[in-house]
Amino acid sequence: GSLLAQRMQWIKASPSMAAKKKVDTLRAAGKKIVDFTIGEPDLATPEHIANAAVQAIRHGATKYTASAGVPELLHAVAQKFERENGLRYTTDQLIVGTGAKQLIYTALAASLNDSDEVIIPAPYWVSYPDMVTLNGGKPVMLASTAESGFKVTAAQLEQAINDKTKWLLLNSPNNPSGSMYTAAEFRDIAAVLERHPHVYLMIDEIYEHFSYDAAYVSLATYSETLRERTLVVNGVSKAYAMTGWRIGYAAGPAFLIKAMTTLISQTTSCASEPSQRAAVAALTEDQACVREACRIFRERRDVIVPLLNAIDGFVCAVPQGAFYVFPSVKGLLGKRTPDGTTLATDLDVVHYLLDHAGVAVLDGTAYGTPGFIRISFATNLDIIREGCEKIASACSQLV
Ligand code: PLP
Repeated sequence: GSLLAQRMQWIKASPSMAAKKKVDTLRAAGKKIVDFTIGEPDLATPEHIANAAVQAIRHGATKYTASAGVPELLHAVAQKFERENGLRYTTDQLIVGTGAKQLIYTALAASLNDSDEVIIPAPYWVSYPDMVTLNGGKPVMLASTAESGFKVTAAQLEQAINDKTKWLLLNSPNNPSGSMYTAAEFRDIAAVLERHPHVYLMIDEIYEHFSYDAAYVSLATYSETLRERTLVVNGVSKAYAMTGWRIGYAAGPAFLIKAMTTLISQTTSCASEPSQRAAVAALTEDQACVREACRIFRERRDVIVPLLNAIDGFVCAVPQGAFYVFPSVKGLLGKRTPDGTTLATDLDVVHYLLDHAGVAVLDGTAYGTPGFIRISFATNLDIIREGCEKIASACSQLV
């Protein structure tokens, strides 16, 4: 027999992590690669945050903590939700984890029974379906289109809900499309969920602070009854350029938070203490670094979108949030490369751009939306211009 569990056949390595490995390998072989696969800010963690961790380590903050997180961080998280989202939570409704990713996984592990369904609008963050599957659940994907702004409608949601539905897992601003639901759209979605009290809502707000055209409003604020069945997931990774510190936080019903805490106590014990102390500084001290990061990313967005739209075969919508563009490359499909192969899918386009342009991007298929590619603009303007030039030049060689 095999050592590996059967469940390992149902899941794959995260495509963005796999892409990172491939880029590293090519670079190690001496190839020059423009990396547009990056899922993290290229900015450094602000100094006052890093200093808080250094100070904390010097003062002995190097131990296990309570599984739900240190009281100071839970307090800072409560203040953050009140200050920025108008949401009030008590400490027993809050939890800190090793990234938003661990908290999403833990919430699913704590709640799914075999064949429970989780509704996931596409395009979706690649990890959602695999995390649902790993926990015995069934991901139910809802398709959206570029025409609908990569958003699902209340009617679609209504139709997808059945007795087995346990969660709607929603991500806005969205990775990979950058779409954001409007207030009216959120109101309609909240109304559907209000009519189905057995369905819980998990909202992934990790890109909250990268909202370029409108103030971000949490879906949890639209309905008081729905809020009692909502898990809000967020973290410091993106907003404060702290991906490697691995700190996320979540707010939700006390019984769920308690179950998640039990799971964490038996798995990772707690999040790293120095990182938790740094997160306290991030959430409680000057927020100018977040506004500045948002300004930088908005500027990059405004540069990359026209550059891509100028390329024959690309159609790129303007993302309202996050730091990705998700252009259609359907105009390239069916074309022939200088080697004489035909580009049949978005994955073929990804390989062509890597081999012929030295530009790494991710395929929309991985995000449940074939015909598109994901390009990260979490990289500086010179690299953005260089990469777009290389893509344009490679595309001009297609016939
Ligand atoms: N949610 C989405 C939509 C993401 O894109 C990411 C990171 O790429 C995460 C969650 C993970 O965040 P964290 O670093 O807090 O685990």
